[in-house]
Amino acid sequence: MLTLSKLINNTPEQIVLNSRNVTGRVLKSYWDVDNEGKEHRKIMIRAKDIVTRNPPKTLVLSIYGTERDITKNKAWVYCNCEYFKFYLEVALSLRGSSSIIEATKQLPVNNNPRLTPYLCKHILSAIPQIRRLKFDRSLTPTEKELRDPTLRSLKDFIP
Ligand SMILES: [Zn+2]
Repeated sequence: MLTLSKLINNTPEQIVLNSRNVTGRVLKSYWDVDNEGKEHRKIMIRAKDIVTRNPPKTLVLSIYGTERDITKNKAWVYCNCEYFKFYLEVALSLRGSSSIIEATKQLPVNNNPRLTPYLCKHILSAIPQIRRLKFDRSLTPTEKELRDPTLRSLKDFIP
């Protein structure tokens, strides 16, 4: 899995320019635990391009690590735009920084022949907002808390 700053630095100049037309709104930001029990910060954002006026896209980022500068942490990213599906989903998945959700497993031989892992304009546009986010810890028990015998016995009482 690559760091968010690595993905930012890999992003081509044209995407950087296009990202200036995108505005986003954070829907959720919280600490979560993934399928393997790994703690991470989860961010969901709704973003739209004010120039193309395409329907809004939904982006999800999972940030692994506790570096204060959020971009220094490892990141799993997803966007439901067409560009992400055809240029990035496979390339990012090969590095553990996304999963194949929309794309077929075929390599993007024409769109991204070097399989460079980078960000679409929607995710890139959200980075300044993501840097300022605060993450609520109270909703999700930590792994340590889940292993705590007191809490474990409590689960029998939770419907
Ligand atoms: Zn996108």
